[in-house]
Amino acid sequence: MTTSIPDSFAALVARENDGAVILGRETLTGADLPDGQVTIAVHYSGVNYKDALAITPRGGVVRNYPIVPGIDVAGEVVASTDPAFAPGDQVVAHGGPIGTDQHGGYAEFAVAPSDQVVKLASLTTREAAAIGTAGFTAAMSVAALLDHGLTPDNGPILVTGASGGVGAVSVDLLSALGFTVTASSGKPDAAQLLTDLGAAEVVGRLVDDETKIRPLGKSQWAGAVDCVGGTTLAYVLSTMQHSGAIAASGLTGGAALPTTVMPFILRGVALLGIDSVLIGAELRRSIWGRIETDLRPQHLDSVITEIGIGDLDASLTAIKAGKVTGRTVVRVK
Ligand code: NDP
Repeated sequence: MTTSIPDSFAALVARENDGAVILGRETLTGADLPDGQVTIAVHYSGVNYKDALAITPRGGVVRNYPIVPGIDVAGEVVASTDPAFAPGDQVVAHGGPIGTDQHGGYAEFAVAPSDQVVKLASLTTREAAAIGTAGFTAAMSVAALLDHGLTPDNGPILVTGASGGVGAVSVDLLSALGFTVTASSGKPDAAQLLTDLGAAEVVGRLVDDETKIRPLGKSQWAGAVDCVGGTTLAYVLSTMQHSGAIAASGLTGGAALPTTVMPFILRGVALLGIDSVLIGAELRRSIWGRIETDLRPQHLDSVITEIGIGDLDASLTAIKAGKVTGRTVVRVK
């Protein structure tokens, strides 16, 4: 068990230079880490769409460089000023300022506010990083649909961006709960994986640049998990069944939402916003408690790609281009 930070340790640091953001290996000391209650020896981090935005000039998620990116931190507690945590605890930490406003998981050590830290029960740190912010967001999305009252008897559920992190874990969770899942993916190669995760049907992307979104289209879905946003979400809204609900978390297809009020006022559709960043510690821990139990991914191994820290640049470029399938864990230790 490690109980203190060594004199120096390795990190990937993003620095802004002439409008470009460059990610490079550096050596840091404990003095470089932010103030915070829980010091963690990082075992694994992850690759999320937001991590790619963190190294994109004007990506909108990092205000001040230099920063160690990595919005997911999974590892072992080294020291804690909060008595809720003790050296040796296996934990995951994410959300709040981690990896965007203060140093994150692409370093051998991280310090996190205790509200962001969750003790792991049965999950390993590798599994927790594989679930990471994306899988957590999938679990939040599924929990929101269940809380809304959706059951498998209501009808089919659509998952967009299905081959990505939020999408693939959502397909897995919903299928395990007995829902009939239609997975929409732009990657023909991912169809077998999505079927293996439990999708009853795999379709392509729902819209293209030419698609005109009608205020209301054919009524198809009892529920949806959407991490794409843009015209995709507008299309999903227009094709919901009466009283259907959509858990909306992302914007890989754009932030604008070209829709009308018709789905809301003529079909009673509910648009449920999902935010994993600013939620409180109680909800964060309760969702992780469910991820350990009734919302536990059933096929995590089939969606994991493990990389070393040296492969991060390529992986971040790929996720920004929408080319990553499943979840990528980054071995830091
Ligand atoms: P991924 O890249 O792993 O997944 C996103 C998927 O979206 C891609 O794999 C692709 O799936 C699809 N996609 C990509 N580009 C486009 C496009 N132009 N049009 C339509 N579909 C596209 O990212 P994550 O799973 O990490 O994150 C997904 C989204 O959710 C991001 O916008 C992220 O910022 C957001 N997010 C929000 C959170 C919150 O708290 N609200 C937390 C976590 C993530 P396919 O090829 O299968 O169609």
